[in-house]
Formats: sequence, structure tokens, C-alpha cells
Amino acid sequence: MILGTSVSTGNRHAPAHCGSLFTMTLVRLPDPERARRWCAEQRADGRSVGFVPTMGALHEGHLALVRRAVAENDVVCVSIFVNPLQFNDPKDLARYPRDFDADAAQLERVGCEMVFSGTLQQFFPKVKQADQIVTRDPGPCAEGLEGASRPGHFGGVATICERLFRVVGPGRAYFGEKDFQQSLVVKQLARELGFPEIVVCPTVREPSGLAYSSRNVLLTDAERQQATCLSKALFALRRAWHNGKRDAIELRTVMLHELEHGGVQVEYAELRDPHAWTVESPTGPMLRAQALVAARVGKVRLIDNLRLDRDDDVGAQ
Ligand code: AMP
Repeated sequence: MILGTSVSTGNRHAPAHCGSLFTMTLVRLPDPERARRWCAEQRADGRSVGFVPTMGALHEGHLALVRRAVAENDVVCVSIFVNPLQFNDPKDLARYPRDFDADAAQLERVGCEMVFSGTLQQFFPKVKQADQIVTRDPGPCAEGLEGASRPGHFGGVATICERLFRVVGPGRAYFGEKDFQQSLVVKQLARELGFPEIVVCPTVREPSGLAYSSRNVLLTDAERQQATCLSKALFALRRAWHNGKRDAIELRTVMLHELEHGGVQVEYAELRDPHAWTVESPTGPMLRAQALVAARVGKVRLIDNLRLDRDDDVGAQ
């Protein structure tokens, strides 16, 4: 992978007299320090900076965030960093897909201006070893579900997001509802820091209903087929909601039934009030509901979720 080079891209800020022939470069920066300087220059020139943090292996879900950011900001930057602090399983970290050049080519096509990366050492230059990094308290929304299944995960997410936000200084940062609990943790972080505005975008799905995920490339064809039972269970649950089912325990039973049919190894299949995160599972009738599921399909751990009392998803079933 060669960073610090430029590729040509269509530019949405082209002066009118340049017409469609005007091209600009997607700036590829190899370290956070150069990214910090680039972003500071943009802000000093009066441009609003939109930011999309990612771990790379980009897919349509990521690109939807970038397109939204391109529409709402003067310039957009994307970070690609497979953050070791948020992986509680070293094997998961080792096999996480990485392809910077393919990612840069995709970003170029959707009008992103800058992409940057870096090493853990570059993000935390004062620290000699990863285990000396003091992680941030991710707050109460980190408790339960993903927080319980992946100890330390949200501390690692909050720590790197704070560092990335301080590098970029964005007005807005874009996250996917696909990682619903993460979006709550990041909103809390932004409230504590006083910036940026957090924009949460709908989950983008393949035609089969499977939510796009970087980990999908690790699935065999048969596993990919099996993995569709996550979204099938969630959409079955939404139908049950539309048919008037409101009792939390009954709704959960519908979801588990669908997942058992799919033959995946369920880690959790739960409901939460999206406006009031609780560690405990709700009981009794629900006013609003987010259904959340984590399951292993072969060696790959997948998560998905769906708001039951709303249906504005991309590619909804
Ligand atoms: P990741 O590279 O997995 O850390 O994801 C980077 C951002 O993309 C996060 O805010 C994710 O929630 C978001 N994202 C991942 N998959 C999807 C998807 N299928 N639809 C929408 N956003 C997504």
C-alpha cells in the first residue's frame, strides 16, 4: 500500500468557469498529523468539514455515509483505521479485511476529498505500548448487548473516536444505524466533547436483506445465504409490530423462533427502547422498539438491528 500519493477525481467545488473538465485530487494522507494540518487548512479557509470514520474494506453502507456527508458539507474526509483497541478477539483483528487502494478508488468515485490512515503509535504518540493507552469511559449506553459480548469494545471505540474527532475537527460526523449501540455511545461522546454533530444514517442492505458489513466477505456462499436469517427475523418482527404485537417478551419469542429456523448461533436477540437504553431487557408493552441481534455464522460474528415502529430503511424487506 502506498500512501501520500494523489489520484484524480471529479470535484464538486470546481469553479464554474472550469466546467466539467476540472478535476481535483483525492488526497491520501498516511498519518494523522498530516490529516490534522489538512483539515485545519480547510476550516481556516471557511469550509465545513464532514467526517466518516471507518475501518476500511468499504461497501455500499460506508459509501452511503460518504454520499450523505458530501451532500451536507463543503469537504469530506474519511479515516481508515482498523482500531486494535476495539477488538477483544485477536483472531477477529487478524482476519479483518484490508484493501486501502480499492477503498481509495471507491472514495474517489463518490466525491470524498481526503482519506487518511495511521498506526496506533501515530494516533497515540506519547504511549509506548498499546496496553498503556488509557481508554475512555464509554458511558451507560455501552452496557449490555455488544458491551457485554465484547468487553472493552466500546471503551476502544470511544477512545479512537475522540482522537479522530480531535484530528479532524469536523462540524458533522456520520455513523451507521447498523451499529446502533455504537451510535448511542458516540452521541454521548460528542455531547461530552461539545462537538461534532452526529448524523446517524439508515442501514444499507443487500437485495437479500443482509446488512452490508466488511465481514460479509469472510462468509462462504452457503453462510451468506444462512446469514440472511438475521434480517428475515428482524423484518418478521416488524410485521408482528405492525400487526399490533407490543409485548416485549412475545416479540422476542417471534425473533428467536425465526433465528432458530435459520440455524445460526445466536448470541443475543433483544429489544430496547431506542430513546432510553437499559441494561435489562424490557418486559410488558413497548411504545417504541429497536430489535437487536448478534449471531455467529460459521466463524463470522454478525450484528444487525431494526427499528420496529419506523420503516425508512434503505432496501427494506
Ligand atoms: P466500520 O468500518 O465497520 O467501523 O463502519 C464504519 C461506519 O459505517 C460505522 O458508522 C458503521 O455503522 C457504518 N456502517 C457499516 N455498515 C453499514 C451499513 N450496512 N449501512 C449503513 N452504515 C453502515
